Amino acid sequence: MVSGEPDQVMFSTTGKGKTMRQTRREFLKTVAVAGSSAALLECTGLLRKASAEDLAESMAEVKGYTYCDGCNHVPMCGMVYFRRGEVITRLETRQDHNYPNSTICSKGYAQLQEQYHPDRLRYPLKRTNPKGRPAKWKRISWDEAIRTTAKHLNGVKAKYGADKVCFFTGDPKEMRPVLQRLAYSFGSPNFGSESSTCFRSVSLGSLLLSGLPRPGAGPGKETRNCFVWGVNQSYSMATAMKSLLRAKEAGVRYFVVDPRKTPMVRTLDGFHLPLRPGTDGALALGIMNVVINEDLYDKEFVGKWVHGFEELKVYVQEFPPEKTARITGVPADRIREAARAFADGPTTVMLSASPVVHHTNGNQNLRAVLTLFAITGNFDRPGGMVVPPPAVLPSTTDGHPVFCRRTDLLPKLQPLRADRDYFPVWAELVSEIQMNRLPEYVDRGRIKAMLLFGGNAKMWPQPHLYQKALLGMDFSAAVDYFYRPWTHDYVDLLLPAATCFERLAPAAVFGRSVYQRQPVKPLGEAREDWQIITDIGTALGLKKEFFNGSLEAVINEDLKPTGLTVEQLRKAEGSMATVPASGAPKPRKYELGMLRPDKLPGFDTPTGKIEVYSTILEKHGVDPLPTYKEPSESLLSNPEMAKKYPLVFMTGARIPFYTHTKWRDVPWVSEFQPEPVVNLNPQDAKARGIREGDTVILENSRGHITVKAHLTEMVGAGMVDIYHGWVKQDVNTMLARDFDPISGFPPYKSALCDVKKASV
Ligand code: SF4
Repeated sequence: MVSGEPDQVMFSTTGKGKTMRQTRREFLKTVAVAGSSAALLECTGLLRKASAEDLAESMAEVKGYTYCDGCNHVPMCGMVYFRRGEVITRLETRQDHNYPNSTICSKGYAQLQEQYHPDRLRYPLKRTNPKGRPAKWKRISWDEAIRTTAKHLNGVKAKYGADKVCFFTGDPKEMRPVLQRLAYSFGSPNFGSESSTCFRSVSLGSLLLSGLPRPGAGPGKETRNCFVWGVNQSYSMATAMKSLLRAKEAGVRYFVVDPRKTPMVRTLDGFHLPLRPGTDGALALGIMNVVINEDLYDKEFVGKWVHGFEELKVYVQEFPPEKTARITGVPADRIREAARAFADGPTTVMLSASPVVHHTNGNQNLRAVLTLFAITGNFDRPGGMVVPPPAVLPSTTDGHPVFCRRTDLLPKLQPLRADRDYFPVWAELVSEIQMNRLPEYVDRGRIKAMLLFGGNAKMWPQPHLYQKALLGMDFSAAVDYFYRPWTHDYVDLLLPAATCFERLAPAAVFGRSVYQRQPVKPLGEAREDWQIITDIGTALGLKKEFFNGSLEAVINEDLKPTGLTVEQLRKAEGSMATVPASGAPKPRKYELGMLRPDKLPGFDTPTGKIEVYSTILEKHGVDPLPTYKEPSESLLSNPEMAKKYPLVFMTGARIPFYTHTKWRDVPWVSEFQPEPVVNLNPQDAKARGIREGDTVILENSRGHITVKAHLTEMVGAGMVDIYHGWVKQDVNTMLARDFDPISGFPPYKSALCDVKKASV
């Protein structure tokens, strides 16, 4: 609860699993800050019957553009908004937006309810009671907030060193480039993000194998087969389904590798390989066994461009189809059929961020999958895993290395990384630090202060340790849209962020097209992240790097490689410009010297080849081949535990209504699933006397939560699946902090558990 003026007293429901409650008067008060309108009331669905006298004077409807940040990807689907005054009244899909086939989804439309949610933070807040208790906040000015932050960060720098300050971004990803610039300019290499549990393990596996930061993916014109490996885009990126369906109509055959029978199997008529969670590596090795023994690999490519093939050839003999079937649960004839698809390529793969890598053996699993596509000659082959031509700017996820100061400042700071001796492979190849050992970094005095943009202390297994870590810091400040007690009760300052309708930065870049937002005035004193970071940088004394606080100058610096400026984009039709391509896309870039900084043919790895035998892993004393080990907690590795907890526990897969912890208080989407449910196969349910909708206890050796049962064939027998991000029924309390030694990723998808009916 909040002290101070009445405007601040609006935190009572946020994030506690309740639906939004708000009186009409309160709602009108909320929007009155920017001027209310009838259309807004109707489109948000909060007050459908607002009477005429409640409505502001009718104003002309004006069109503007933004792009959605709802998925926690990069700036994504283009939106046309319509506003009256400064109030947005409705949204439409921006048809000329270049994000492929983008169409606003349910969450995108619901952004408007989040935008005008009564609990939105509107002023900088400073706590008036000790950390670790329900916060009491006092409104302060932005000037005080920025000065206080700068004073504490410079204090930690003077006392312990700049590296003791950690700069963290969670959701959205949009502030990553400018926050890196701040961290490295300040003198700390300790910039981290939620990618420590997301896409970066795929990226790391790809770097180890081929030197490419991300594997090319998705079907193209020449593709014959597409492996959809652990991806359920119908839920996680529904807007991309159109292109997959078009490819299906054009004759692409889909192989869906997934423990669950997701809608991808049915919608794409996919050949399903239903594996036991965490056995992706074994499956890939089993398929390679057939590919190699039946001479289906690309001998010319392997002979010229693959390092370690002979060692791999020997190793895969340990994975004949029948044995692989016993490990993975995928029938041997299906393994053979999948392998034989490689005789009829090109074959590509779509990999998602998590199902393959959220295990203690995750990175080797991922390397095995990528190795399969490498030895079959599908790397950068038309219709295969095509390496996209360089975009005019790197994605917001990575930021431009020069703008971020990764090229000139970070190399010198590397020895000061907090993660250096915990995850040495990651520390060598990934510029951002691995955040998952934050409690240990704090315990060992490596982190003393932290800035969190969209941070969530509950995103990790055993979240209480991360809350304790925040509590143990000399200073921390969080920037967010809402007060989220499970994180913000442990910080000193809470600053209000502007939304994707209220921000100018950053540009959205797809290929050669550059888009700029046309922001409306933020609610209250909400401020955009890039501006907050620019202000903090300037207050820290980094005036040159942050152009004396000029946001526009900072964005112009980021835009430099495009040759565009904010002003030019502002004047351009639809605030969009296209930068001409420097040439036609080329396949087999490795032959043309396009994948290495020295421009020599080959791959950007120590041997210049695809390293199925990784010389970097060998240097670090890790198995250089993509070897398979059981997850450390599994039916096979832990048979004693499996007697008590015979079901495999999966969490973290997307559902259509939520993105991680977001949207629980937004009626348009939360009404679809107002409470957590555990998905259970009817066979397992019957064996336990559980029926649809029963209250059940999901338990394992680390804890339990009480939820409702949902019976579904989507989940195979012997496993359960539950969505994460519920504050009370927090699945992360049931997970081990047992990290993959290569990537540092936690095992979100291979714990053991059981489900029983709750007594009523
Ligand atoms: S798919 Fe939906 S939530 Fe994601 S960016 Fe597009 S509109 Fe937003």
